[in-house]
Amino acid sequence: MEKIVLPDIKDLHQIKVYESNGGYSAAKKAFDQSPDDIIDQIKKSGLRGRGGAAFSAGLKWSFMPKTTDKPKYLCINGDESEPGSFKDRQIFEFNPHQLIEGILITTYATQAKITYVYIRGEYHKWIKLFEKALSDAYENGYVGEKMKEKFGTGFYCDIFVHKGAGAYICGEESALMNSIEGKRGYPRVKPPFPAQNGLWGCPTTINNVETITNVPSIINKGWEWFSKIGEPKHPGTLLFGVSGHVNKPGVYELPTGTLLTDIIYKYAGGVPGDKKILCVIPGGSSMPPLRGDQLEGVKMDAESLKAYGTAIGTGGVIVMDEDTDLVKVLARITKFYYHESCGQCTPCREGTGWMLKILNRMVKGEASVHDVDLLVSVANNIEGNTICALGEAAAWPVKYMVARFRDYFEQRMSKEVVLPVANKVHSMRRTAFPLADIKE
Ligand code: SF4
Repeated sequence: MEKIVLPDIKDLHQIKVYESNGGYSAAKKAFDQSPDDIIDQIKKSGLRGRGGAAFSAGLKWSFMPKTTDKPKYLCINGDESEPGSFKDRQIFEFNPHQLIEGILITTYATQAKITYVYIRGEYHKWIKLFEKALSDAYENGYVGEKMKEKFGTGFYCDIFVHKGAGAYICGEESALMNSIEGKRGYPRVKPPFPAQNGLWGCPTTINNVETITNVPSIINKGWEWFSKIGEPKHPGTLLFGVSGHVNKPGVYELPTGTLLTDIIYKYAGGVPGDKKILCVIPGGSSMPPLRGDQLEGVKMDAESLKAYGTAIGTGGVIVMDEDTDLVKVLARITKFYYHESCGQCTPCREGTGWMLKILNRMVKGEASVHDVDLLVSVANNIEGNTICALGEAAAWPVKYMVARFRDYFEQRMSKEVVLPVANKVHSMRRTAFPLADIKE
């Protein structure tokens, strides 16, 4: 199987090795065409974003205004903070020049002059590795003003690395822009969207690391080639980060549409002790989970997963065996989103805390069976009522974990409830779940 993003080439992170394997030839090829031609090819290739939303990359680029007197920007989102996601760091480490080349082509297509590569602050090692690759690219004339001479083109661009400070919410595109601008990482209300009103009010495109690393291969080998790999509506390969109860956790580059069971058993070596699978989260902790008895025939791509009521997200596959305590898992996931809520919207700020409070009670065996409905009710009141998608990221695991394991949750709870659910939700706002009680 051909690998696009992480090919099996030794020392590919070194610029000489990258060059000797055809590196930077796609940029040259792109600069000999018009920006519109490049956007057209990316659109036709069917390349979709690898950061979670799976939106068409070419279409996103086409939203950038053609005529404007403002500078245009590209942001590369390498914040990668979703629990269960650890794929972009592989690119920073093993194939950084293909990312840089993808950036060159994207900036040319969108006529941006400056790119910020936003890297998760905790990724000290990967920040250093990418900075080294970027410095080599500058020295060799692939980035900056020397590009004019190297490629024989009037176009050039600059790339800067911006380190995050450890906030999950800065992976949200508008919070990421605020962070780059030196402000607190608060998500912005949309619209306006970044293509119209992005960094410093200027047109901005934001793409994930893996998405842009696909671009040079598409330009070199053609959109037809790419569009035939994997599933037609979501073509190409995906980096599946497999973690949890598997024998060989790791990152596997496989075509879209690969069976989830193949990922778990064929590539990740199956479950230790040959235990049964209780639950799998297919795309990072915010995605709705699947039951172990639902996995047969599940294909891993954006369209196929919709039929199972979940989503591809970042391709972070989290496997839980039959001995897993799902209540504890859900409490841990919820604690993360409660901690990472930026606090701007009441449903997210308060609701994540309330969910955590209920889940902590469940973990301690102090909850009643009616708390299951109360938990779902709080999740429902977060979903769709917030500025950014962290609200859904917190609500979905709760809502769908309970929906798919309702018997499991109800069997764990035993006490009688005193108030009807509606009253409990209402009264909770005043006294029942004081946030001060929540232990970090
Ligand atoms: Fe902040 Fe949560 Fe509102 Fe997003 S949903 S803006 S993280 S409070």
